[in-house]
Amino acid sequence: MSTGLLNIAIIGAGASGTITAIQLLNKLSTKANIFLIEKKEQTLFRGAAYSSQLVYEPLNVQSGRMSIYNHLPDHFYDWVVANRQAQSETEITRDSFVSRRWFGDYLTENFEEAKQQSENVTVEIVLAKCTDIAFNSADECYTLSFESRDDIQVDYLVFACGNEPPADVLEKEKVLGGKYISNPWTGNPFEKLKANEDVLLIGMGLTMVDHVVSLQKSQHKGKIFCFSRNGYLPLPHAPIQQFVFDMNQEAKEVKQVLDALWQNLTLAKGQDISWQNVMDALRPYTAGIWKRMSLDSKKYFLKRLRSYWEIHRHRMPVASANYLKELEGAGQLKFIAGSIQSVDCKDDTMVVHYIAKGDKNESTLAVHHIINCTGPSSDYYKTSNTLFKNLLNKGWMKQDALKLGIETGVRGEIIKSNGVVLNHAFSIGPLRKAMEWETTAIREIRTQAENVALAIVLPSLKNYEMAVETGL
Ligand SMILES: Cc1cc2nc3c(=O)[nH]c(=O)nc-3n(C[C@H](O)[C@H](O)[C@H](O)COP(=O)(O)OP(=O)(O)OC[C@H]3O[C@@H](n4cnc5c(N)ncnc54)[C@H](O)[C@@H]3O)c2cc1C
Repeated sequence: MSTGLLNIAIIGAGASGTITAIQLLNKLSTKANIFLIEKKEQTLFRGAAYSSQLVYEPLNVQSGRMSIYNHLPDHFYDWVVANRQAQSETEITRDSFVSRRWFGDYLTENFEEAKQQSENVTVEIVLAKCTDIAFNSADECYTLSFESRDDIQVDYLVFACGNEPPADVLEKEKVLGGKYISNPWTGNPFEKLKANEDVLLIGMGLTMVDHVVSLQKSQHKGKIFCFSRNGYLPLPHAPIQQFVFDMNQEAKEVKQVLDALWQNLTLAKGQDISWQNVMDALRPYTAGIWKRMSLDSKKYFLKRLRSYWEIHRHRMPVASANYLKELEGAGQLKFIAGSIQSVDCKDDTMVVHYIAKGDKNESTLAVHHIINCTGPSSDYYKTSNTLFKNLLNKGWMKQDALKLGIETGVRGEIIKSNGVVLNHAFSIGPLRKAMEWETTAIREIRTQAENVALAIVLPSLKNYEMAVETGL
C-alpha cells in the first residue's frame, strides 16, 4: 500500500493479540494504523482464558510469573498489588494465584495506556469475524473480508486466533441437547444444571479442576464424575525458587533431554529446590529442543511421554488440589480411568458405557449433564474457523505432519503449502505449537509478541540481534 501509513491487522484480540498491539504501540515510531479484530465482544482484550465466567477461575501460574514484559518480571505482580489488594481476602504475594479476570483487567488497562501514550499509532477495534484474506497484487496489500462489515486493506497480518475448541468427544445427536457442553470455555456451562443432578466431566486437566471447584463453591449437591483414559491429575505447584537449568545445547533426542532433566533434578535436590522449579527453568529451552528433535522422537514423546509431561508442566494451585481432595474424601467426587464406549439417552439422563482401565467388562454410569474438558483440538483440517478453512484450502497455511498446528518460521512467519513464507504474515500463540510445542502460556506469548512487533518495526533485524533486543 502506498499511502505512507503502515496498516497492520491483528486477527484475534485475546491475550496474544492484545500484547502484540501493546508492543507495536510501544515500538512504532512511524505513522501506523492497527486494526485489532475480534469476533466476540466479551473476549475483547481477554480471550477465552481471561474472560471466564466461572465462580472459581484462578490463574494457573503465580502472579510473580505473569508479566506481559520480559524485562519487567514484576509488572503484573506490582499492578495486582496496587489495584486489587483491597478486593483480596488474603495478602497477595508473588506466589499467589489471583483471578484470571483480574489478569484480563490488567491487559485491558495496559492496552488503553499504551494507546494513549503512542503519538504515531492509531488503533481501530473491529468487532467482526474475519472469514477470508486475499492478496491484492496491484496495491501489494492484503484484503480482509468479514461476515458483517466492509473489507479492510493492510500491509501486515498477525494471526492471534487462539486455541481451537475441544474436539467433540461425543456424537451430539446421541446426547441430550443443552445438557452436553462441548466447549466449556464459552458462557456458563452450568446454566441448565440443577443442584442435585449428577455431572460427568470428560478430561482431567486444568479445565476440569476449575469446573469441579466452581461446582463445589456453588454448593452443588449432585455427584461429580471425572473421566480420562489414564486417570492422571495435574500435579500441584510449589513456591517460586530461582534455578538455572544446565542444558546441553546439542540435545535433540528424547533420551538426551531426559538425561539432562534427570541431572538437573539431582542438582536441584541437593540445593533444596523443588522439581516444579526445575520444570519451569527448562522452559526457555523447550522450543529450541522441539525444533531440533527428529520426527520419530516427537512421535515417541507424544505417544509415550505426553501425559506425564502434561501433569508435570500444567500444574494446579495447591488450594485447588486441596478442594479436590476434600470433595473426593466426602464421596461427592470420583475419578475414573478408562475409555468411553458409547452413550445412550434414557428419559432425562445419559447412560455412559465405559471400560475401566485394567478391566475387561463394560460398566455404566448415569448422569444428567456432560462437560467436555478434553482441551483444545489442534487438527486444523477439522477447524470450524472459516478463516482457517479458506487459508488452508488455498495453500496459504499448511498443517504439520503431527497435526499439532500449522507450519511456521522462527519468528512465527506463516509457511505456505509450497514451503515458501507468506510475505508480511506472522502467527502468535497456539498456532505455533507444531513448531515450538511450548507456546500457549503468557511467558512464551509475551516473547513472541515482542519478536513479531520487532519483525514489523525493524524488518532488517537479524535473529541474533532480535535475541539481544528482547534479552533472550
Ligand atoms: C482456561 C484457561 C486458563 C489459562 N490460564 C493460564 C494462566 O494462568 N497462565 C498462563 O500463562 N496461561 C494460561 N492459559 C493459556 C492461555 O491460552 C494463554 O495465556 C492465552 O490466553 C492465549 O491467548 P490467545 O490470544 O492466543 O488465544 P484466545 O484467548 O483464544 O484468543 C483468541 C481470540 O481470537 C478471536 N478470533 C479467532 N478467530 C477469529 C476470527 N476469524 N475473526 C475474529 N476474531 C477471531 C477469538 O474470538 C478469541 O477471542 C490458560 C488458558 C485457558 C484456556
